Amino acid sequence: MTGTTGHGSQPQRLSHGILLAAVVALGGCATANYGRPGAFADRRGDEIVVCGRLVHTGAPVVLWFDPGGYDAYRAECRFIADQEKPTKPVSDSLIRYDTFRRNLPDALKTQIRERGWTLRELQEHVDQFVIHYDVCVTSRKCFQVLHDLRGLSVHFMLDLDGTIYQTLDLKERAWHAGEANDRSVGIEIANIGAYPDTETLNQWYRPDARGRLLVTFPPDFGPTGIRTPHFVARPARNDLVSGEIHGRRLYQYDFTDAQYESLIRLTATLCRVLPKIRPDCPRTPDGRVRWDVLTPEERAQFSGLLGHYHITTSKVDPGPAFDWERVLRGARQRLKAWW
Ligand SMILES: [Zn+2]
Repeated sequence: MTGTTGHGSQPQRLSHGILLAAVVALGGCATANYGRPGAFADRRGDEIVVCGRLVHTGAPVVLWFDPGGYDAYRAECRFIADQEKPTKPVSDSLIRYDTFRRNLPDALKTQIRERGWTLRELQEHVDQFVIHYDVCVTSRKCFQVLHDLRGLSVHFMLDLDGTIYQTLDLKERAWHAGEANDRSVGIEIANIGAYPDTETLNQWYRPDARGRLLVTFPPDFGPTGIRTPHFVARPARNDLVSGEIHGRRLYQYDFTDAQYESLIRLTATLCRVLPKIRPDCPRTPDGRVRWDVLTPEERAQFSGLLGHYHITTSKVDPGPAFDWERVLRGARQRLKAWW
């Protein structure tokens, strides 16, 4: 507009100018707060989701809505075409988790039903991190067994190459550890497990030309789903580890260094975001790691990392090879470095 419209055009132009400035100001403000419409938000690939918020971990993470992720919210099976229900459903419904953690007061349940969880509420009610091994050797197989066959769920799976898969927001009550589900976050770590003899272990671990052990897959295993191309999975310690859990002698090969590194970063992150989870595990009075079940009273009072075997005598995971001190020392060092 050039002002050739005659009398009255000046105030009109002025108001136009003010309007334009206001629009630009608003537009600029909107751009600063929300980003350019249609632009894709940045992700670094190390984030977990806690009450809908992305939290960095420093470890590789694939979320359930990422390409290649494992989605525990989906009703239908992941690997069995056209099948909705798991083969051995633990409930009649098509879901494999609960929105509510059952340790909540009724008034809070009502509030959460109406407006969802806040991070502060989750921080108040989640104080345990339960460690499992999956007896599946890969996270892909683990999800197939949990989701499609058994109708269960777990927040995280940790693959041989250190990739963390998150399948549900931490606000959900995943089905992985019985009574502990109400107050815990759970992780399934890829490992064939612990046994009273070495027969199974000898099928899965073979020495290379230098005598260093590596995980070998049988020809009929199918795709491993491991993200790192040509990843060679070696136990962090080359020697067979043996130990007693619930008074039973068990043998197991260690987890991979990549798994420990990611677990340390995830543990430190959880201890920071959900600070009632202490970076420690159940110990004897003289400070050694406990390899037996906790009494219900001990479990009620405990906040921190737990093995599944601390919860029930029917389980021995994560087994005698799990290096509690390595994980806890590493997590504490990272927490200290962050402050
Ligand atoms: Zn378990």
